[in-house]
Amino acid sequence: MNPDTASKDANSAALASTNFIRNIIESDLTAGKHAARRWSGLPGPADQQRAGPPDPARIRTRFPPEPNGYLHFGHAKSICLNFGLAQDYGGRCHLRFDDTNPEKEEREYVDSIVDSVRWLGFSWDGPVVEGQPAREDNLYFASNYFDWMVRFAEYLIASGHAYVDSQSAEEMRHSRGTLTEAGRDSPYRQRSPEENMDLFKRMQKGEFPDGTHILRAKIDMASANINLRDPAIYRIRHASHHNTGDRWCVYPMYTYAHPIEDALENITHSICTLEFADQRPFYDWLLERLAEGGLLQRPLPRQIEFSRLNLTYIVLSKRKLIQLVEEKHVAGWDDPRLPTLVGARRRGYPAEGFLLFAERVGVSRSDSLIDYALLEDTMREVLNESAERRVAVLDPLKLIIDNYPQGQREECFAPNHPLKPELGKRAMPFGRELWIEREDFMVEPSKGYHRLYPGNTARLRYGYVVKCTGFDRDPSGAVNAVHCDYLPDSKSGTPGADTYKVKGNLHWVSAADACRAEVRLYDRLFAVPSPGARREDDPEGVDRDFREDINPNSMQVIHAWLESALKDVDAEQRFQFERHGYFVADRVDSKAGAPVFNRTVTLRDSWSGKPGQRK
Ligand code: ATP
Ligand code: MG
Repeated sequence: MNPDTASKDANSAALASTNFIRNIIESDLTAGKHAARRWSGLPGPADQQRAGPPDPARIRTRFPPEPNGYLHFGHAKSICLNFGLAQDYGGRCHLRFDDTNPEKEEREYVDSIVDSVRWLGFSWDGPVVEGQPAREDNLYFASNYFDWMVRFAEYLIASGHAYVDSQSAEEMRHSRGTLTEAGRDSPYRQRSPEENMDLFKRMQKGEFPDGTHILRAKIDMASANINLRDPAIYRIRHASHHNTGDRWCVYPMYTYAHPIEDALENITHSICTLEFADQRPFYDWLLERLAEGGLLQRPLPRQIEFSRLNLTYIVLSKRKLIQLVEEKHVAGWDDPRLPTLVGARRRGYPAEGFLLFAERVGVSRSDSLIDYALLEDTMREVLNESAERRVAVLDPLKLIIDNYPQGQREECFAPNHPLKPELGKRAMPFGRELWIEREDFMVEPSKGYHRLYPGNTARLRYGYVVKCTGFDRDPSGAVNAVHCDYLPDSKSGTPGADTYKVKGNLHWVSAADACRAEVRLYDRLFAVPSPGARREDDPEGVDRDFREDINPNSMQVIHAWLESALKDVDAEQRFQFERHGYFVADRVDSKAGAPVFNRTVTLRDSWSGKPGQRK
């Protein structure tokens, strides 16, 4: 085999193994599994009819967030996977709000989830099909299926597959058994279908208080899988629901509702995270029973699990994120340090960076912890391509060119993107007084320091070579200005430029033209790779409070001098500030004429090395 083919084979093998779900989908498509399905035209709720007949030979996936929090980086992985697969195979992905729990969901979360999925570049609108009245709108709310869920539950009762249990929660817990011990049948398990139906109808009418009765699937109390020991499917909850108001006082359990939602929407591949693997037998059991009863069409949706995304230096649990926001460790859900998608957007992470990252981390069934540096590198890579270059001086020190005529001004030209000459150059005003970085001058240079110090020459990037002649100190002794002379025939872009060989190359902005702006230097929110984990040097120790690991230096607000071209940028415009990193004009606070920038990521990783310690 020639080396070329060998490496191609290795590549495609690597690609295939990064996404075992593709293999499943491809074999289903080849077998024509979904083409075989015919739409029966079951009379259903408006939502189901909107999903339309399944397209032959097409897949349907879904992303089903519970609207009880903001989306985080883990959700981005699931979104890229579900919407991405649908896109790649010409199918559809549904955005479905799993809002079956009456107590928790909030409209604010629904809106923000919709925004974030769109921001990542995905849509749930089907294409416009000629001859069809409207394009498919695949946005769903699980609570629209409550009528169906009750009807299906009644079928299970009538066919002897469900019963009303009247034990207390405590008694149920006791009789459930353990991993090593079988459960015990409830004394109510042998109720007749008629009695069960009567009780369930009365539960629906509101005749009983919360917790007095519960509808359970009748499967097997001795099953090795605890999830099959007669799981609860409907509970009494006298609570209003944001969508259905006070219409219901019984609500379905998540594990019962979810498979039904998938089936009603003709989902072909129901992709979820690994913690649902033990629920899969119940998922299949339930849909099989309903299909047997003629209530659902075959083929039924298939559940496929993959491992969650876990990243070092952040937390991805909704509970912890809520805590960080509510206790004001961060400024809100869109704080640029928070691993929410609204936070990422404000931080300046490009949506394309998440798509590329999702591709890189791949999909597998083994748990893994991904180094946050991989995410940052991916963002850098996308930004390096897309962000124009600009100049900003973050820690300013005055540079005075004594032999440059007072009042004289000229323009220097800087490329907007070194990799993309087609983006042209912009003019940077140059004058007698400039701002340079404080770290670009030393009174007594250390070894290998090539920037400015008395007697040394260095180049002002895109401008002239200057020779340092001295410096001033303020009354406290701190250096407050550096003096130099410029070499008039050394201007970049002129024939004379090449005659000067200097090692130092500094960035600068003209003091008379620069624009002062607030710049927020964001860093990682946590100082250690696994926030809250026990310390390595304390093997006896227990897990600690993750909040103890918050990085006290995760945000620093400074005032910087920006080149004049940055004055009127639009919010959310992204740039590389040369030698510093990537920055974005804050989408909330930045205004044309008064820019505010957030640091997205530095040019290089300063965290690798010893965990918790910056280089
Ligand atoms: P909770 O269970 O606390 O509600 P959740 O993160 O599971 O939190 P959901 O709204 O149910 O929240 O998640 C929607 C979808 O996103 C689910 O299909 C879930 O599997 C997926 N998801 C959630 N977290 C991750 C993660 N870290 N990696 C990949 N997918 C995730
Ligand atoms: Mg969940």
